[in-house]
Amino acid sequence: MKFGGTSMAGIERIRRVAKIVKQQADAGHEVAVVVSAMAGDTDRLVNFCREASSLYDAAEYDVVVASGEQVTSGLLSIALQSLGAKARSWLGWQMPIRTIEAHSKARIETIDAGALTEAMKSGEIAIIPGFQGISQDGRITTLGRGGSDTSAVAIAAAVKADRCDIYTDVDGVYTTDPRIVTRARKLKTVTFEEMLELASVGAKVLQTRSVGLAMKENVKIQVLSSFTEEGVNYTADDLPGTMIISEDEMEESDMERQLITGIAHDKNESKITLTRVPDKPGAVANIFEPLAEAAINVDMIIQNVGREKGETDVTFTVPTNDLDRTMQVLDEARADIGYNRLISDSNVAKISVVGVGMKSHAGVASTMFKALADRGVNIQAITTSEIKVSVLIEEDYTELALRVLHTAYGLDAEDAA
Ligand code: ADP
Ligand code: ASP
Ligand code: MG
Repeated sequence: MKFGGTSMAGIERIRRVAKIVKQQADAGHEVAVVVSAMAGDTDRLVNFCREASSLYDAAEYDVVVASGEQVTSGLLSIALQSLGAKARSWLGWQMPIRTIEAHSKARIETIDAGALTEAMKSGEIAIIPGFQGISQDGRITTLGRGGSDTSAVAIAAAVKADRCDIYTDVDGVYTTDPRIVTRARKLKTVTFEEMLELASVGAKVLQTRSVGLAMKENVKIQVLSSFTEEGVNYTADDLPGTMIISEDEMEESDMERQLITGIAHDKNESKITLTRVPDKPGAVANIFEPLAEAAINVDMIIQNVGREKGETDVTFTVPTNDLDRTMQVLDEARADIGYNRLISDSNVAKISVVGVGMKSHAGVASTMFKALADRGVNIQAITTSEIKVSVLIEEDYTELALRVLHTAYGLDAEDAA
């Protein structure tokens, strides 16, 4: 079981979580629980680091930001004990959860769950702070924002859990962010592939890496709410949330699937344009090589037809967090690349539609372009994959675009109409 930040925000909510956990233990299950920091705490800790120094040491940043989960894991153990359950916390270094050294964005390498499994067998509930691990040289690491989801899936794989239940503040995965589109519908099932795409293009309900890991390790994930009563009482055959399943299972379970499974948005992208780049072999490599060396992830790329003979404009997007560094790298590489102007725009958003159905259907992209055009929303860049179409638009149109596309693909919930 994993509980996110809103589920852990305050003692009253932690007591409620303790009740949900105890119910599972009382039903005879061996339970491991992964917890997030209280909602808002990680942001607060990140800001402390920034305030202390704009060029903070990533290893010390991890020491600071990992602390939020240490607090909630101890508090949940206390709450469970006060209900008469046996429980103890297992910090990342105590198990241990070994990660690579990349501070603030570490990846889990191995989990030694031996002692934990023994404790669980003896009837003790194991509480594990999410988000944190320990590097080979013994220092605390963290897994990137939203990383408790990945901790939960990794623990589930390590203890060979029957299921990994991810409790959050919505009762499942929806066709789009239900906080923005009130007509969003809850999905009973989503394939790993679709969830991976949805997460990677901005549906923050699960961290992208947690979905990839679950796919690789074949961990069954359920997303559900810790705020509704169903979250407390249900049976294995009648799950209240959304199950993430393989494509094979999907074909058996749901014949009448929509063409589009979900729509996601990401306001965390920025657009960069280099004007009058030489239109010759190697020019594009000169732009993207230094960015790759700086570990900056480039997403959408378009090369425009040159206005002048022998010249072209190149436009691409990077995460807004990396915008300053990107500008710096490109400025330094100006002589090598040979561009005229360097223009950036962070007032953009990426809107993506995802669905395995589009593998075998034409017209998904044109429906998107037409629906946006009808509302006067201009498309600045496009990318596609086998099961996804993404467009870049002006950020102010994000909510409108989500609603319009949700309707255009026939996803609106009828009862909310
Ligand atoms: P937690 O703190 O439990 O990890 P998050 O805030 O990380 O929770 O993720 C849950 C949030 O994800 C929801 O409150 C919702 O606004 C957002 N979200 C975005 N896209 C979706 C979607 N397709 N389905 C459900 N929730 C979504
Ligand atoms: N507390 C961490 C964060 O806010 C990890 C998590 O909640 O998943 O990013
Ligand atoms: Mg989260």
